[in-house]
Amino acid sequence: MNEDASLTDIFRRLVANTGPISLQHYMGEANARYYNDRDPLGTGGDFVTAPEISQMFGELIGLWLADMWIRAGRTEPVHYVELGPGKGTLARDALRAMKRYGIEPVVHFVESSTALKEVQLQSVPGARFHADLSFIPLEGPVLLVANEFLDALPVRQLVKTPDGWRERMVVWDEADGRFACIAGDRPMDAAVPEARRDQPDGTLLETSPGAAAILYEAAGRLVNQGGAALFIDYGYTAPQAGSTLQAVKAHRKVDPFMEPGEADLTALVDFDAAAQVAQSRGAKWLGTVTQGEFLTALGIEGRAEALSNFAPHHREALLAAKDRLIAPDQMGELFKVMALADPDWPEGAGFSVS
Ligand code: SAH
Repeated sequence: MNEDASLTDIFRRLVANTGPISLQHYMGEANARYYNDRDPLGTGGDFVTAPEISQMFGELIGLWLADMWIRAGRTEPVHYVELGPGKGTLARDALRAMKRYGIEPVVHFVESSTALKEVQLQSVPGARFHADLSFIPLEGPVLLVANEFLDALPVRQLVKTPDGWRERMVVWDEADGRFACIAGDRPMDAAVPEARRDQPDGTLLETSPGAAAILYEAAGRLVNQGGAALFIDYGYTAPQAGSTLQAVKAHRKVDPFMEPGEADLTALVDFDAAAQVAQSRGAKWLGTVTQGEFLTALGIEGRAEALSNFAPHHREALLAAKDRLIAPDQMGELFKVMALADPDWPEGAGFSVS
């Protein structure tokens, strides 16, 4: 393949030669290209994530994991597994906090980006890289974290037409000079859960086969070798219809159907579906709460105070970062935290069912 060809050219040729491609294919290839050769995180990049806002985020996650491991009986060896670790900041902060409680896990990163692997190794020297979860050792409990990972996985969109359910496919729109979506030819009714099939024409449903596969596999590891997991993402907890696909570049929303591979494509995570998949594999769903609820329950207010007393000149910045993470009009409410565990493990701090 010509490395210099833009993904726009590659997709245009593909569509011209073989016909429409699925939106899932489009999003998957676009993000693989996007992430592979850049570090998009930070104010000078395309978007900022919670671990990049404050060290408190990773520290509190580390404490949550350490608490689970301690109450479950401190089994060794223990594995810290992070999916899509970005710059490795969350892992570095979490591991530092865990060490204070006597836990020094083997560190495993599931990462596909060549550029980001280098950055991650600087944050966490000694981390082991894996292409997917199947390479994680089979012995010892797994403490798994994924922040803004599931939302980057390609979604499948299904649209109800007068002829039944069809997959949304991508074509090139010459007049507009951008890609566009059409309904595919193949009947897709079987891909829609029976309870959701009867809908008015034009209804759009979104599913994430990639997220489902990963949740199923992660749940299997928790059940077979013990462990707990936190999935944190921008998402919803009650089923909803409509496209949530969006593209972000340089901190602004851009058209997802222009310049694939040059912007970050994401879709909201369906946490209800995610919990069901994990439970179908036998994992215990500890709950799904907002990021604000989670961090508040774990004591972010006290942590911000303690850090500001230690470094008074940073007080304002620390309090602003804390607010950004937990305020309902910032990241506090849209971001959700879902916890899973081995059914023999204890309940998770901050997830007491209200
Ligand atoms: N968790 C980090 C980064 C979020 S961005 C943070 O919170 O800052 C998404 C991350 O997932 C990046 O590290 C990206 O390279 C990785 N990623 C995206 N799709 C992936 C895939 N299919 N397999 C493995 N890693 C992937």
